[in-house]
Amino acid sequence: MEQIGVVGAGASGMMAAIAAAEKGGHVTVLERQDRVGKKILATGNGRCNLSNRDFEPKRDYPGSDPKRLSAWFGRFGVQDTVDFFESRGLLIVDKNGYLYPRNLQASAVLELLRAQLKRLAVRQVCGCKVLHIRRDGRFVVQTDNGEYLFDRLILSCGSRAGQPEGRFCDGFDLTAGLGLPVVEPLPALTALVCEGRFWKELAGVRCQARIGLRIRCGGQKQEYEEAGELQLTEYGISGIPVFQLSRFASRALAQKAQVTACIDFFPEYDEAGFCALMERQIRACRDTSLEWLAYGMLPKKVAQVLLKSCGLSPQSLVRETQEGQIRAFFERARAFVVSVIRPNPLSQSQVCTGGVPLAQIGDDFGVRKIPGLYLCGEMLDVDGRCGGYNLQWAWSSGYLAGLSAAGKADQA
Ligand SMILES: Cc1cc2nc3c(=O)[nH]c(=O)nc-3n(C[C@H](O)[C@H](O)[C@H](O)COP(=O)(O)OP(=O)(O)OC[C@H]3O[C@@H](n4cnc5c(N)ncnc54)[C@H](O)[C@@H]3O)c2cc1C
Repeated sequence: MEQIGVVGAGASGMMAAIAAAEKGGHVTVLERQDRVGKKILATGNGRCNLSNRDFEPKRDYPGSDPKRLSAWFGRFGVQDTVDFFESRGLLIVDKNGYLYPRNLQASAVLELLRAQLKRLAVRQVCGCKVLHIRRDGRFVVQTDNGEYLFDRLILSCGSRAGQPEGRFCDGFDLTAGLGLPVVEPLPALTALVCEGRFWKELAGVRCQARIGLRIRCGGQKQEYEEAGELQLTEYGISGIPVFQLSRFASRALAQKAQVTACIDFFPEYDEAGFCALMERQIRACRDTSLEWLAYGMLPKKVAQVLLKSCGLSPQSLVRETQEGQIRAFFERARAFVVSVIRPNPLSQSQVCTGGVPLAQIGDDFGVRKIPGLYLCGEMLDVDGRCGGYNLQWAWSSGYLAGLSAAGKADQA
């Protein structure tokens, strides 16, 4: 019987192993860590946001080929994921489109996957680091635990995102050894470190904001925008809207572009509404200090830093301050521009942007120039937005790669 190897037992690797074994494949998974699927436990703050009902490949996987993604999600998509888990006894709950296990425990997702591997007699070799792969008729997989031979091989090693820093042979070292190109994996879904001495004073603030990311590189300009709960840290900006923008900042900074973030602390107002608010607030606070005028609208730490950045003394009375200076303060609160220096490192990111280009694989997830080799999950150059899209990619690509490796690609 043909032997199928799966290198890396994370979300996509376990899904691939289950799909291949269900179709009769004889499957072995090789996992570097002491247990399979450990990263799943950390997902969604321990609740595992495993997919999302609000799903548009073009929007949710920026930078990827939406046509190819749509075709794959058409074969194994969000409803297939729900059916996969529910038909095996794990109920899924929908929270405004975000899908979680009903008990909100990521461990339940992992336990279900582990139980399936066991049921299907998938051989699990943990604490086994794959060091090198070569093709010698079969795939010869060299590990720190001896050599393994496979007829078909699925690589599902993920990336270094969320992994402690350190020296180990990752999936991209393995694909490089096989002669496959890679788009440099860079941090995504992560916080951004920004210039400025005031961040320590702002640390701990959480507030609604709109963030515009502006990229300038050799006369070219790009702009991206996100709104939501902004988190200010002692080194810069974080929170979901910043995570969503980080992939663009990472790539631009790697290309030595100039990147700034423009923070609007009044995202709920349009221009006219904001002007009306300004006039009303100036009138209401005529006899108070500037500090109160600012604090009455903004988190105190933000109010203090913005006043200071405008050269205004918090104790000055509104009526004794030039109107132009007060208006400048409002404008600053509407557009507080900071320079972005770098993203947080991969170890503090949820995913990477980059990986093996999709052009390297066929529609069956098989590597075009190496028959019998399949790639899935984060190893491919696909990164999704925050909100369950990355796990959905892992489930979909893993499932389809598993079917293909078992020779049953037509059964999705
Ligand atoms: C903190 C955190 C929270 C997240 N929350 C969410 C969320 O709620 N929703 C969502 O959609 N996404 C979330 N993600 C992203 C999601 O976890 C990943 O996109 C997904 O796990 C990728 O699956 P994968 O199978 O490609 O890689 P991984 O899950 O990373 O699995 C790769 C496996 O390969 C193993 N491996 C690597 N190299 C080798 C080697 N040389 N030899 C043997 N084994 C090897 C690794 O140990 C690992 O077990 C989160 C990520 C992090 C870090």
